Amino acid sequence: MKKALFPGSFDPLTLGHYDIIKRGVTLFDEVIVAIGVNSDKKYMFSLEERKEFIEDTFKDEPKVKVVTYKGLTVHFCQKIGVDFILRGLRNPADFEFEKAIAHTNRDLSTIETVFLLTAARTSYISSSIVRDVIRNDGDYTKLVPSSVRVK
Ligand code: ADP
Repeated sequence: MKKALFPGSFDPLTLGHYDIIKRGVTLFDEVIVAIGVNSDKKYMFSLEERKEFIEDTFKDEPKVKVVTYKGLTVHFCQKIGVDFILRGLRNPADFEFEKAIAHTNRDLSTIETVFLLTAARTSYISSSIVRDVIRNDGDYTKLVPSSVRVK
């Protein structure tokens, strides 16, 4: 069974993430969306909220699982027996950043990173832009799946 880990902060899940996950399930038997927990980072949404948004969005997609993890992504992949990491590429800056991480992960393990180019219509969306729109009372609902709502 081919499984891929899609790691990130998902603070919150956006239509960009949604696109990558939907396309990921056509390539893999299982896509495990893994929310990384970093105690030094301040998040807008709690871990429970971020997890719920993703679970709710993919409640009818049995190939999508949601987990949380701490520490190195490759260690977590090894622990749960996953051979692939899935990442989205939006622009050249993403590419440079992701290249360094993927090379490092290959030094540390045999885990391959698979990149999907983002869909043109969602490539400008980032969680940080969504958070900015929310903070400034803008209409964020066009940028996120319908399960993602500020309470
Ligand atoms: P991180 O904490 O790693 O920045 P994110 O939650 O922002 O986590 O992103 C997780 C993954 O989703 C990364 O591979 C990122 O490139 C991808 N991603 C983020 N925004 C988009 C988007 N608009 N379209 C496609 N992929 C995206």
